[in-house]
Amino acid sequence: MAATILDGKALAARVRGDLKLDVDRLSAHGITPGLAVVLVGDDAASQIYVRNKTTACAQAGIKTFDHRLPATTSTDELLRLVAELNADARVDGILIQLPLPAGIDARRVLFSVDPRKDVDGIHPENVGRLLMGEPRFVACTPFGVMKLIEEARLPLAGAQAVVVGRSNMVGKPMAALLLGADATVTICHSKTRDLGGTVGRADLVVAAVGRAEMIRGDWIKPGAVVIDVGINRTSEGKLLGDVEYAPAAARAAAITPVPGGVGPMTIAMLLANTVTAAKLRAA
Ligand code: NAP
Repeated sequence: MAATILDGKALAARVRGDLKLDVDRLSAHGITPGLAVVLVGDDAASQIYVRNKTTACAQAGIKTFDHRLPATTSTDELLRLVAELNADARVDGILIQLPLPAGIDARRVLFSVDPRKDVDGIHPENVGRLLMGEPRFVACTPFGVMKLIEEARLPLAGAQAVVVGRSNMVGKPMAALLLGADATVTICHSKTRDLGGTVGRADLVVAAVGRAEMIRGDWIKPGAVVIDVGINRTSEGKLLGDVEYAPAAARAAAITPVPGGVGPMTIAMLLANTVTAAKLRAA
């Protein structure tokens, strides 16, 4: 049987439509959700991500405050900007586009964001809350993956879930969310032995590695669900996921495409977190 394609583009469009209604209701009460977007340096991919996020905010009625700084910006200058944004009542959420230039102490900057404005879900307070089962802001990509899984009504309780990748932004929060949904979770990384065997036992595979098609299609257990977070651009400009798509789709019960799977959900969840932040301000 052909795998169900988990259409993140369609779900993200629906989520964004619902958020727009939320924003309209908030605006009627005099509250316009605001997102500060901070981009330091001129990384080409970051510029595209920031543009997409800003456009999505505008479409949902979220006001954005753009801060573009040169790559020569110092850690102290950036800390001063974050302090201003923390104090600015118009700003509900603060997004600092990563990666920051090498000369900046990213850890200090990210930790200085008010956790109540941390719509990227990266501040230790929000990470800790997630681990304790009391999430407030959850990192947008794994949050979006959970929405895709919920929408498809895929059963997680008791399922063997394998997350490949353990980054702070994707792999670790993903594993925490799956654990919170009662899956039995295994986290794999670059030192994992027998990756293929581990993936082959999974009912759910989430690939967040950043290596084109490194998860082989013939590793996938027949009937498994495959979520591909990876975005890898080939020298010809084609986008590939971390999973070998066609052979994986031939075995899986459900699979996300790249592009059009997880990516659009990431942006939708950034908007969702910003609207949540605005509601917290209003409460
Ligand atoms: P990252 O910080 O580079 O982390 C990659 C992880 O993969 C690390 O934990 C690393 O293990 C692990 N890894 C590397 N080689 C491996 C191997 N051979 N076997 C098993 N694990 C291996 O990347 P990230 O930020 O999590 O992003 C992962 C991918 O998702 C990238 O393609 C990125 O572009 C994409 N992404 C997509 C979205 C979206 O919206 N769709 C959002 C964020 C990221 P170690 O910890 O041992 O080094």
